[in-house]
Amino acid sequence: MDRRLLLKQTLAVASGAFSLAGAWAGRGALGYPFGLGVASGAPHETGMVLWTRLTARALPSPLEQVAVRWEVGKDPGFSSLAASGTTMAMPDLGHAVHVEVQGLSPGRWYFYRFMVGDAVSDIGRTRTAPPADALPARLRFAFASCQRWEHGYYTAWRDLVEKMPDLVVFLGDYIYEYASPRNPQTPLVRSHGLRHAVSLADYRDRYALHKSDADLRAAHQACPWIATWDDHEVENDYAGERGQAEPTAFAAQRVAAYQAFYENMPLPASALVRGLQGLGSQGAVRVHTRHAFGRLARFHLLDTRQFRDVQACRDGVGGAGGTGSGGRGTVRAADCPALDAPGRTLLGEDQERWVADGLAEDGRDGRVRWSILAQQTLFSPRHYGGTHASNPPVPTDTWDGYPAARQRMRAAIQAAAPRNAVFVGGDIHQNYVCDVHAGDAPGTARIATEFCGTSITSQSGASPTRLASLQQQNPHIVFANSEKRGYALVELTPRGWDTQLRAVDEIDNPSSAVSTLAKFSLEDGRPGVER
Ligand code: FE
Ligand code: CA
Repeated sequence: MDRRLLLKQTLAVASGAFSLAGAWAGRGALGYPFGLGVASGAPHETGMVLWTRLTARALPSPLEQVAVRWEVGKDPGFSSLAASGTTMAMPDLGHAVHVEVQGLSPGRWYFYRFMVGDAVSDIGRTRTAPPADALPARLRFAFASCQRWEHGYYTAWRDLVEKMPDLVVFLGDYIYEYASPRNPQTPLVRSHGLRHAVSLADYRDRYALHKSDADLRAAHQACPWIATWDDHEVENDYAGERGQAEPTAFAAQRVAAYQAFYENMPLPASALVRGLQGLGSQGAVRVHTRHAFGRLARFHLLDTRQFRDVQACRDGVGGAGGTGSGGRGTVRAADCPALDAPGRTLLGEDQERWVADGLAEDGRDGRVRWSILAQQTLFSPRHYGGTHASNPPVPTDTWDGYPAARQRMRAAIQAAAPRNAVFVGGDIHQNYVCDVHAGDAPGTARIATEFCGTSITSQSGASPTRLASLQQQNPHIVFANSEKRGYALVELTPRGWDTQLRAVDEIDNPSSAVSTLAKFSLEDGRPGVER
């Protein structure tokens, strides 16, 4: 490849002038193969996963495997290498590369890059976790979710890069499967020409679309991520093996979507260990994992999609009043007795046991300071009073739709008694800060705290008035805001936890200011936010 051309393309990528048309397979001359960027993830004491995906368009023969060299440097100039090697990018996995680096030193930063022929990728910055028995002085992590392309610019990611966190926790809706609406109710900030995703090619294109955004690529370059998914990585409101298409077609769609998620995220190969075709309780892709930062913090990253029971009264099953898939997602409690069925699960039996066991490990001798339940959606209840008090609407897709499962999770926390349990979530496109109580009745003990973050871009339908009245009915909801997009930045130490809700002023302005909407502190050993 012409070196001057390569330099020009590298600079174009760095300056954000990269064009979407060059991001995925198809037409045109050979080009730069690293246009989708680089990423790292799943950091542990002595290594992490390094990721890139070659653009087939840039490859001389797109159907063949390609040798990719990778390097981990102790400095950004790569004058001293800590590890290096060659791996194969396979066409069957969309020329994705997942390198599992081993043998690094605990608790330090590294730099990495990839090479194919003369082409060199952007440089990513990543880090290892501190030693398992250490109690580090601090951890700074961000959590985020829901980045619908049409709803805004990724200014939140730009701000996050400036804050230089140690870790990003991504909680789902990395992509949305929809085509751009033709007659949107509110004007779109940007649009795309992709069709509603169902096939592997569709989902691959969708990730390429998102990764054509320079701010998102920069967020991956800035630090390691741990990532789970929600519904839109496959289809709105799907539940386990149940989607909108008939079962065989939906199974194929889910396999395609799961494969594309794996191909585009810095997940270890062990995530695929059961094979993509695996269905049922064993699952197909293993997303629920634990990630420790010494004894300071342990993340229990959950998967509330793959193993869940179907929403109560979806399509009218289990009572009257189901809204079906793609409906409003609420039922009237009295019309839907199935809501309260004791066996209904959001995590699946195996994952429920796995969380309970993990929390018990954390709680043993107060080993882990902060146990973080990183999951998709709002855990805390939203009770609707007033005119609705006699037959209140209940959201069916969040933990509210799985009350028995929520109660089992509360019981697991109480039994394990971890030193501090904190939920972080997303999905609802609104900021919520909540005290988590042992039961639904007011006055039960506080056992944990919840921060449900807003979206990177995705719009919220809730009005401020509705939220204000909801807060009045629900004293455990300390803060609720539906108006701002952004992410949450957390700084934690052995003694305390600070959450800053970062908010983008104008989602349709790529150079918008980003500011702190609110700040909340937790104290070690005291569940609930300080007032
Ligand atoms: Fe979302
Ligand atoms: Ca949904």
